Amino acid sequence: MNIAADSPDFIPFNRPHLVGPELKYIQEAVLLGKLSGNGQFTQRCQQYFEEHYGIAKALLTTSGTAALEMAALLLDIQPGDEVIVPSYTFTSTANAFVLRGARIVFADSTATHPNLDVAAVARLITPRTRVLVPVHYAGTSCDMEALLALAKQHSLWVVEDAAQAVESRYQNRRLGTMGHLAAFSFHETKNISSGEGGLLAVNDPQLATRAEIIWEKGTNRAAFFRGEAARYEWVDVGSSFLPSELNAAFLWAQLGALGAIQQRRKQLWQRYQQALEPLAAAGCLELLKHPAESTPNWHLFALICRTESERDKLLAHMRAQHILAVFHYLPLHASPYFAPRHDGRPLPHAERFGRCLVRLPLFHDLSSDQQDRVIGAVRKFYATLGLVKSSS
Ligand SMILES: *Cc1c(COP(=O)(O)O)cnc(C)c1O
Repeated sequence: MNIAADSPDFIPFNRPHLVGPELKYIQEAVLLGKLSGNGQFTQRCQQYFEEHYGIAKALLTTSGTAALEMAALLLDIQPGDEVIVPSYTFTSTANAFVLRGARIVFADSTATHPNLDVAAVARLITPRTRVLVPVHYAGTSCDMEALLALAKQHSLWVVEDAAQAVESRYQNRRLGTMGHLAAFSFHETKNISSGEGGLLAVNDPQLATRAEIIWEKGTNRAAFFRGEAARYEWVDVGSSFLPSELNAAFLWAQLGALGAIQQRRKQLWQRYQQALEPLAAAGCLELLKHPAESTPNWHLFALICRTESERDKLLAHMRAQHILAVFHYLPLHASPYFAPRHDGRPLPHAERFGRCLVRLPLFHDLSSDQQDRVIGAVRKFYATLGLVKSSS
């Protein structure tokens, strides 16, 4: 695939944003002489989330995936347990529970947004269901009121996949603080990053002690170093989930610029929205709607094409203009790994998003001129199809 990535006018889909003090903080970490996990920078980052988000215990992890895997261990998921997950998500949402032997029961998205359809979730609950995993796609909140009520009614755990949802809100609450547990990601493609990184939010205080033990390879090391345990020993199962201080130092720099990052993303996002609303009104494409209770974090900008072939043509058209626009998830229930394990239910909304969704370049350093080119290219595509006038 020739995407003209070396041509000077190429617009990538994403580019990592450096806020400034990353290397200075990494140097500080090196000079402090402690490079392994749970040092000063790790603790600063964790405290930030505990204080600003009101999370009972925040634990930095090597990735959002690792945070989800920790959640599955912490909830003692056993072979045969059922976990309800949206099909339209990243593999890690399901994989974390598959690793524990759980049976994944995929639920469909709503018709207008890839987030879970809570009514569909309700129909999938059985006596073996243990966990519901809402994924806040694009940083837009799932219908948490209905979902939390459903979980309470059936005594189920809720693990929020808030990988895309740092700084998003639902009503007045932050995403990632409503489930018993939640996973954030600081992968290079997310709003703030440490290259690879994540965070497990332990919102149920009863899970906090054991979370720290699982995080520290099954030992009571963290408690021992706080002087709360007489000996440092193996007390439970666990694994290596801590990032090094180098990653935490990078993340600490990014956290310091969170406000500015969010502001720029919001500008870019709203500009796309304004520019493309006329095309949506003309019936050329659909835009994702944000429920009134959800304040998103401008993580990604998506549009939905009318058909798969039109989607493919749009992507090719953008590539020809040296712009990388991309599709997103292929529904997991129909994936090569899971299709033979799936119960055969069609999940039409997830399938439609798999066929028709397109994401446009959205990153902090995207210039207004570049964004104009992206918008112009989308308009031109629909003008060429004869659906709208090119001057629009
Ligand atoms: C990014 C992402 C993950 C995985 O996070 P990593 O940090 O890349 O492991 C999981 N779920 C969703 C919805 C994501 O967007």
